[in-house]
Amino acid sequence: MRREKIQADIGLGANLGDPQQAVLAGIEALRTSEGLEVLAQSHLYRSEPVSAGGPDYVNAVVRVFSELCAPDLLALLQHLERRAGRVRSYRNAPRTLDLDLLSFGQGRIWSKSLTVPHPRMRDRAFVLRPLRDIDPSLVTSAELERLSDQRIALVGAEGA
Ligand code: ATP
Ligand code: CA
Ligand code: CA
Repeated sequence: MRREKIQADIGLGANLGDPQQAVLAGIEALRTSEGLEVLAQSHLYRSEPVSAGGPDYVNAVVRVFSELCAPDLLALLQHLERRAGRVRSYRNAPRTLDLDLLSFGQGRIWSKSLTVPHPRMRDRAFVLRPLRDIDPSLVTSAELERLSDQRIALVGAEGA
């Protein structure tokens, strides 16, 4: 039986070790994961931590077709985080790789372990800038303007 494919957006972030390498490796891991097909990937961005200290982050957003249901997709993301050496210490702690499920089709999910759409994504330039790369219809200029106090730049264009 063919399983239904759901379009989902995944936000990636890292700020420990070599964060650019970690995000690229995370995207590659999504590309090679059973049950996922990567449809689009954003540019890489460097952003200052929001509500936290520590080194700058590298961020990206990837759009996939998922044959996995949302809880299984979350479990896969958490497996890939662990494989990348993620240790959960305290809230908003620096991390080797963070994979957030931003959206899952048109679905709204509110369970103990999963809220979709991601409840804080609209407050974060490090999500909305890369999300706009892959789907400009989802992010308005006014939204980004409202978040212009959050420092973010394309990787390679910092300080430009
Ligand atoms: P934030 O969610 O504000 O970006 P965070 O990514 O640092 O914070 P984590 O420590 O990575 O938070 O995850 C905490 C918990 O959030 C996870 O155990 C997971 O069950 C839950 N969670 C709820 N909704 C989502 C979602 N849409 N994507 C990923 N994790 C989620
Ligand atoms: Ca996160
Ligand atoms: Ca997370």
